Amino acid sequence: MENIKVDTGSTAYPIYFTESFEGLAEAAEKCGYKGRKLCIVSDSNVAPIYAKKVSEALKGVFSEIKVCIFKAGEKSKTLDTIKGFYDFLLENKFDRKSVIAGLGGGVTGDMAGFAAATFMRGVDFVQIPTTLLAQVDSSVGGKVGVDYGSYKNVVGAFYQPKFVYINTSTIDTLPKREFSAGMAEVIKYGIIQSEDFYDYLKINKEKIKAHDKECLTHIIRSCCEMKAVVVGEDEHDTGLREILNYGHTIGHAVEGLKEFELIHGECVSIGMAAVMDISEKRGMVSADDVAELKGLLRYFDLPVSVGGLKAEDVYEQLFHDKKVSSGKLKFVLADGIGKTLRTSEVSKEEVMGAVNAVLEG
Ligand code: ADP
Ligand code: ZN
Repeated sequence: MENIKVDTGSTAYPIYFTESFEGLAEAAEKCGYKGRKLCIVSDSNVAPIYAKKVSEALKGVFSEIKVCIFKAGEKSKTLDTIKGFYDFLLENKFDRKSVIAGLGGGVTGDMAGFAAATFMRGVDFVQIPTTLLAQVDSSVGGKVGVDYGSYKNVVGAFYQPKFVYINTSTIDTLPKREFSAGMAEVIKYGIIQSEDFYDYLKINKEKIKAHDKECLTHIIRSCCEMKAVVVGEDEHDTGLREILNYGHTIGHAVEGLKEFELIHGECVSIGMAAVMDISEKRGMVSADDVAELKGLLRYFDLPVSVGGLKAEDVYEQLFHDKKVSSGKLKFVLADGIGKTLRTSEVSKEEVMGAVNAVLEG
């Protein structure tokens, strides 16, 4: 099986790239899971499509497999749902040797991982991401957790999986809107890490939109490679890893104000378009670069502007982010394509300019 390694210094694990679930048994056996118990955590959309296939693929390895299903959606990402997982694990006599797998998108992976990090002070965890967004971003790097009240991801941990198993054919059943949202994070990697990759996306956009398998595998693998490097250097998000937040500062603010209307990837798209305005005014990118990025985002049916918001409210909301330290906003700016500048030296005027650049009306 094709794989790459994530090495954080404290731990190392593989990410497998496949087009089926057939290799799961081999991956699990390599971890010494023969004869152990497995709990597959999945949501109400994904479980009916894939839980049986995954169980079938793994039944020769584990002594017992149970599927724990929660109601799909970000609204479920709470401590109450986690409590339900603990009840399920205890009722089914799971113990410290048991394994928890997250089968689904980012919401599933974050919660399965949080349950794995905390149940019995930590049991083995594996990621089987089924959304593009989770495959290129959230399943790699070990961030797990839940939302708390209106605060996103504020309760959580760094807890690395034993492996990440990516079956790219799961993208075929993904709703179109979710595919687009994943593309926002894919495009993000081009801007922050690699002009070559960005060019690849521009050149192959038709094929990508048509879910051409070779292209999809290439882009998912490339994103994971880039993320593996960043996470390897900065497991706990205190430095380099911040570049992954490109487009997320303003994106998160829009997400907070447009909750239940726009999904994460769409807000990242708006955030990327906005922050490009600061780079352009500073002469770090050209007007053509900005137009090209917006064109590419639009091609993948992503928004590059948003209506019904006031600039002042967005600005206020920026300070609610958990990434704000000592009252200072942190920004990742594009410095050309494929390079970034991390800075907290951005004036209110620049931020307001960026926000106004994406507000409609
Ligand atoms: P994300 O990965 O974007 O963070 P979610 O975990 O909320 O977000 O997944 C987005 C939505 O897509 C959810 O409704 C989830 O049930 C659904 N979903 C996830 N993977 C698939 C798939 N492969 N096929 C169909 N629906 C899926
Ligand atoms: Zn993101």
